[in-house]
Amino acid sequence: MGQFNVVVLGAGGVGKSALTVRFIRDEFIENYDPTIEEEYRRAITVDGETSSLEVLDTSGAEQFTSMHEVYIKAGKGFILVFSLTQETSLKEVDYLRKQIFRIKGNDSRVPIVIAGTKLDLVNEREVPTNTIQTLASRWQLPFYETSAKRNWHIDDIFNDLVRQMRKQ
Ligand code: GDP
Ligand code: MG
Repeated sequence: MGQFNVVVLGAGGVGKSALTVRFIRDEFIENYDPTIEEEYRRAITVDGETSSLEVLDTSGAEQFTSMHEVYIKAGKGFILVFSLTQETSLKEVDYLRKQIFRIKGNDSRVPIVIAGTKLDLVNEREVPTNTIQTLASRWQLPFYETSAKRNWHIDDIFNDLVRQMRKQ
């Protein structure tokens, strides 16, 4: 059984822990301690094949930028998370994307998926679909609009990433 390390990165408060815990335990935690950094493990079956995932839910990205380098070196695949309700959180995705290519090398096909979270908060939405669509196609990265609260498209993120990691 293949085993892959996945690192969940993004600005504080965008919903990294909610997304991770939804995937790992299929529950939604309203107030997850923002300072908790935790590694989880789960088996996932994609296209009839089972793999073991180690998922690192990072925290405090702003204060510990030097840790990015450590995580990025150790990670096989990356979920870059922003909130659909916070346009500025997209900037962090661009920054992280550049860091990954700087550290892993520009020519390598690094497995990455972009996740826009809090899709259920329709009235607070700041990022329209065509904005992220344009960016994602410029970056040549897949993206999903998700909700950890409602469990919308969380599995799609991980399935896509597993398919990319298997091709490596
Ligand atoms: P992190 O700092 O990136 O790990 O963010 P958290 O996962 O702790 O989430 C920050 C806040 O956003 C919490 O109050 C969560 O309940 C809320 N949140 C996260 N994901 C969603 C979602 O999909 N929908 C809604 N409505 N709230 C969410
Ligand atoms: Mg968190």
